[in-house]
Amino acid sequence: MSIAFLGLGNMGGPMAANLVKAGQKVTGYDPVSEARVTAAGHGVSVADSAVTAIAGADVVITMLPSGQHVLECYREIVPATEPGTLFLDCSTIEVADAHAAAGLAAARGHLALDAPVSGGVVGATAATLTFMAGGPSEAFIAAEPYLKNMGKKVVHCGETGAGQAAKICNNMILGVSMIAVSEAFVLGRRLGLTDQALFDVASTASGQCWALTTNCPVPGPVPGSPANREYAGGFASGLMLKDLHLAQAAARAEGVRTELGKHAEELYSEFVAQDGPGRDFSAIITSLTGDGTA
Ligand code: NAD
Repeated sequence: MSIAFLGLGNMGGPMAANLVKAGQKVTGYDPVSEARVTAAGHGVSVADSAVTAIAGADVVITMLPSGQHVLECYREIVPATEPGTLFLDCSTIEVADAHAAAGLAAARGHLALDAPVSGGVVGATAATLTFMAGGPSEAFIAAEPYLKNMGKKVVHCGETGAGQAAKICNNMILGVSMIAVSEAFVLGRRLGLTDQALFDVASTASGQCWALTTNCPVPGPVPGSPANREYAGGFASGLMLKDLHLAQAAARAEGVRTELGKHAEELYSEFVAQDGPGRDFSAIITSLTGDGTA
């Protein structure tokens, strides 16, 4: 089987490399020449356009920045394919865009799946991503072996759009819970608690959550969390903001009240405008302490 991989950036580059490591034949394309050079170094055959990359491909995987990129890409490449190609979009995009992309593929007789990921660049590199897939069972069964080459867990969430829905709902929980955990540390300090004391209680009590026990926003209690290295690496605040925007777009489209999700979107908008998009999203605590530090 021949795989075309479009979008060889921070995530797509290592994902394509893991497909090669698993013995797959991969042809990749990215408009950025550094991305093509790095991918070539990992055994990916690089093409000079998306249309060239997909020639003869049985599977087309996209890992692109936004829904607009995915739809533009599908409009360009789908007409150049023969019916029967499997389309897997691993980008994080709006649920409505996932439906539009799958519709473009289906109109040409292709199977398509939205399959966004969780696990970040670390997971993409180590092939330990979690995939959340949406689309027909036939597409999921065909896609599963490829997704398992790049991740450790693959969940079929339902029909088209269900993968994106799972991704944005999960990340809405994460954004809200990170703010809640950060507020609790700031209030706890003001009330005379040490960070360690609050952590020791909340991490084994009903306040327990991933934002506290794995990605703890204060340095100290969880030595591996980004707070211990000035919030470098991890899950960038700009990407959290993107996912909160996607959740709000979906909530508006469905007429669902998500007050905390909306407030989290506002707080991350303010934080990213002030601090930039690059630091780990747990750095939002620095906007709550009053002195800009953790
Ligand atoms: P990135 O910007 O590093 O990579 C995207 C790449 O797509 C870029 O190199 C860009 O040049 C390329 N591209 C744009 N249009 C293209 C086209 N038509 N054909 C081929 N390539 C094209 O972004 P990333 O961090 O790799 O993220 C990719 C997707 O994964 C996003 O949707 C993001 O939200 C999602 N995601 C990222 C992370 C993370 O931690 N970085 C985690 C989970 C999900």
